[in-house]
Amino acid sequence: MIIDLRSDTVTKPTQGMLDAMMSAQVGDDVYKEDPTVNVLEERLANLFGKEKALFFPTGSMANQAAIKLHTNPGDLLICDKYAHVYNYEGGGVAFNSAVTCKLIDGNRGMFTAQQVIDSINPPDFYHSPLTSLVAVENTTNKGGGACWGFEEILKIREVCDDHNLGYHLDGARIWNALVAKNEAAKQYGEIFDTISVCLSKGLGCPIGSVLIGDEVIMEHAIRIRKIFGGGMRQVGYLAAAGLYALDNNIERLKEDHKKAKEIGEVLSQLPMIKTVEPIETNIIIFELNEDADETTFVQNLADNNIKIIGMGGGKLRMVTHLDYTEGMHERVLGVLKSMK
Ligand SMILES: *Cc1c(COP(=O)(O)O)cnc(C)c1O
Repeated sequence: MIIDLRSDTVTKPTQGMLDAMMSAQVGDDVYKEDPTVNVLEERLANLFGKEKALFFPTGSMANQAAIKLHTNPGDLLICDKYAHVYNYEGGGVAFNSAVTCKLIDGNRGMFTAQQVIDSINPPDFYHSPLTSLVAVENTTNKGGGACWGFEEILKIREVCDDHNLGYHLDGARIWNALVAKNEAAKQYGEIFDTISVCLSKGLGCPIGSVLIGDEVIMEHAIRIRKIFGGGMRQVGYLAAAGLYALDNNIERLKEDHKKAKEIGEVLSQLPMIKTVEPIETNIIIFELNEDADETTFVQNLADNNIKIIGMGGGKLRMVTHLDYTEGMHERVLGVLKSMK
């Protein structure tokens, strides 16, 4: 039995999800004739209280399309130094939109409205790039699954209004935040111009992300998706997995969060561990003491069929998910405890 805690992307569709996929009604989605995709898009638009939603193969493509919709070449995007759009999308902001990033030195991937204000270039100062977009990530990935306080999200909205900036939410793991903080999707829909959500992380789908926004900003989203090579045909088979996940896999995220906390408690008692970052959702990030060897620690776990991942800078990560069972959890806790 291999226990894979590298990411919540490693899940495989359950029988129920596969059945939903295999019985999906499909059509050519490039002509917008796939009924299942249309239902999924409408459902997500409604859930967030927005007018339009568009299905994408990946979260990266959905984020990149959003950035393209909000910016012109040469513009400046404000995001945290940990942001996925900056660190893990292959330099796509430069490649796809000819945009540069102003990185905020935030706290666990989150920043304040004042830090946004301090990052905006004066629009009439033509020497510096024109600031046009702020991107927020909730939960934060590299920040250890941290959840934003909604107050700060609201304050940043005001800054965006005052300075005529777009406001994008990378909500790859927004589901974890909604469950952890008991928030409603509509709260986010009211505040952000565009929101990307992933179906392939905690929700357990094999593939799929959705970009959500109002009519005006989404008008050219389908063209951008086509340009990026993301126009797909009978993709209702995948959208059906998304609909199944929305029905079945959101509430259960609580279990992933509980297991992550329990792992964190055991980790924090191990002598070779320096710090375990606060655990709010399903991501556990921790650091070893200077004299402990990272490779040996990871190998020790691998020898016990437990896979975890290095984040660079001495940080290690574990992520709980749908395929991480109670039995696996007992085993992981046992193996960790034995490392005392
Ligand atoms: C996973 C993730 C994405 C999208 O990743 P893809 O692998 O392209 O689907 C975007 N943002 C964050 C914060 C993520 O964790």
